[in-house]
Amino acid sequence: MDDSVIVHIGLGANLDDPRRQILDALVELEQLEGCAALRASSLYASLPMGPPDQPDYINAVAEMECRLPPEILLDALQILENRHGRIRRQHWGPRTLDLDLLLFGERRIDTPRLKIPHPGLTERAFVLLPLAELMGEEWRIPGVGRLGDCLERVDLAGVRRLGGGEA
Ligand code: ADP
Ligand code: MG
Repeated sequence: MDDSVIVHIGLGANLDDPRRQILDALVELEQLEGCAALRASSLYASLPMGPPDQPDYINAVAEMECRLPPEILLDALQILENRHGRIRRQHWGPRTLDLDLLLFGERRIDTPRLKIPHPGLTERAFVLLPLAELMGEEWRIPGVGRLGDCLERVDLAGVRRLGGGEA
């Protein structure tokens, strides 16, 4: 695609058959107008951030080629979240589907609605591990630094890669 950039999207779910939510969302991302899905990581299971009395999460990262402006891609992601019945009750509370725009090529964005690189990226093992699976630890995250260095700074306990058929 001309004028397209490589974008990375973080997926998370911990309600209503989270594995199914993530697998369905990956298919829906592939079908987004103006985007072409390239690759997706394995699924990962992770312990919840924030309130502890909620089920474990299933996470993954998708890589896409996109020629939409970033805000329009965010609109599309939020429509998908809503379609999966996400209700925003509690910050970091349980959700059927969370889609975070992690990286948008080399772009840096800092508006009230959209921050890229995603602010949680460097602290979250459940994002860094699937990203490393796709990009390798030597990859330099635009605007952040070497992915392997970020991995060394986070606690990897509580995140495990799932083989086929688990979760
Ligand atoms: P979190 O993903 O940190 O658990 P939420 O999904 O509830 O939190 O946060 C959603 C809000 O974050 C939205 O209102 C959205 O406008 C804002 N936001 C800012 N930057 C991004 C980004 N890079 N990707 C997704 N949402 C973002
Ligand atoms: Mg989010």
